[in-house]
Amino acid sequence: MALSLFNTLSLAVEEFVPADGKTVRMYSCGPTVYNYAHIGNLRTFTFNDTLRRWLAYRGFVLDHVMNITDVEDKIIRKSMELGIPMCDYTRKYEEFFLEDMVTLRLEKPERIVRATEHIHEMVELIETLQDKGLTYDSEGSVYYRIARFPGYGKLSHNDFSGIQAAARVDNDEYDKDDARDFVLWKSRKGEEPYWDAPFGAGRPGWHIECSAMAMKYLGSTLDIHTGGVDLAFPHHENEIAQSEGATGKPFARFWVHCEHLHVDMQKMSKSIGNIYTLRELVEMGHSPEALRFVLMSVPYRKKLNFTIESLKGAQTSIDRLRNYKLRLETDKLADGQNNEIEKLCQQALAKFEASLDDDLNTAEALAAMFEFVRETNTLLDQGAFLAGNRASALDLLKRFDRVFDVIETRATENGLGDEAIEALIAERTAAKKSKQFARADEIRNQLLEAGIVLEDTKEGVRWKRK
Ligand code: AMP
Ligand code: ZN
Repeated sequence: MALSLFNTLSLAVEEFVPADGKTVRMYSCGPTVYNYAHIGNLRTFTFNDTLRRWLAYRGFVLDHVMNITDVEDKIIRKSMELGIPMCDYTRKYEEFFLEDMVTLRLEKPERIVRATEHIHEMVELIETLQDKGLTYDSEGSVYYRIARFPGYGKLSHNDFSGIQAAARVDNDEYDKDDARDFVLWKSRKGEEPYWDAPFGAGRPGWHIECSAMAMKYLGSTLDIHTGGVDLAFPHHENEIAQSEGATGKPFARFWVHCEHLHVDMQKMSKSIGNIYTLRELVEMGHSPEALRFVLMSVPYRKKLNFTIESLKGAQTSIDRLRNYKLRLETDKLADGQNNEIEKLCQQALAKFEASLDDDLNTAEALAAMFEFVRETNTLLDQGAFLAGNRASALDLLKRFDRVFDVIETRATENGLGDEAIEALIAERTAAKKSKQFARADEIRNQLLEAGIVLEDTKEGVRWKRK
């Protein structure tokens, strides 16, 4: 089966190929930077990462844009309460977010763009909508008149026929004509940050940010638009109304939404006190890879129930994969190649790839991998795994890690990455051979200080982290 994704627009799993056959023009709603991202937010961003990596694995080129929402009601309220300029306040949380992305091994989208640096594009888009008669003004603000956009509801599959178009519903501090209408531009209020615009000083509404930035970088029609499920309505529905209202072209071919993460079967909330951040989990002694593993272990369209216990299980699974890789690299194996094992490698790879092609079924992909590890560990014990089988099994692990990225260890601020460790071990072995024992001891001590313990075995040097 070819790579396919569930499209919220059609409510069906559809084969995905970018419009030009090569480059995936993808937009993901990014974080609102007024606080640390919680692990629910990180689930959605990890899903974006999985999707990116799988598209790249399948040979597509990525042009992935993610926005940073750095102007918005909560941001303004919080920064004003603290008396900090809005941009200083948001810049700090943006940095924390980018750090979290690195810690969680989330690939950086090709472009990360700030809303406040695209006000001009938003103003132009609002002017286009005004020219097309799709807006109205109310108390200095500009609203979208949804009654003029017939396709409204097509993404969230909401039927709005029950809502009287002209009914005046004041469910907002701003005055609008129809419950579905939404603000494009909010008039300047008090000391709040504002920008000048032909239709009066003010600031953009949240929805217009994404339409303007997505179309600026990716054109009128995107291949994929992603976000958490809560964004499908009204945010994405409104993005469609804005973009398609302005261009008359379909805004995104695929809409892909990630289900929510819950904690201990409950919604995360401040009152329950079950909101975790990545930093908190790391401080508690859990590895970022364990969280990454947990977040990826449940397919993105299923609810994920997070528990601390699940992090421990994930760490055990990661350790099993790491130990298996170490074994493949260091076990002394008899010469030759066992064809049955080559076949197992091919089957596992085929199952791994088919699972991810099938709407990113990460659970099935993991199952294929662990089944392979279990089977071949036994064959290693039995001596049936031969030296000529090493390369295929290692290649499989490499392919797995191109997407899951949990096996390979990384250099940290005060630690060493796998490559650096292996280079030092090779140098130590060479030093010993040439009888430079002082240098060999020096390297052993250097590694020990970095938390790496060496074990000299008959099959060579093994190492592990303390
Ligand atoms: P925000 O920073 O609030 O704009 O949210 C960033 C992303 O996280 C959005 O795509 C949300 O849909 C998503 N999100 C929020 N809560 C959760 C959750 N509990 N589980 C998964 N994704 C979430
Ligand atoms: Zn958005």
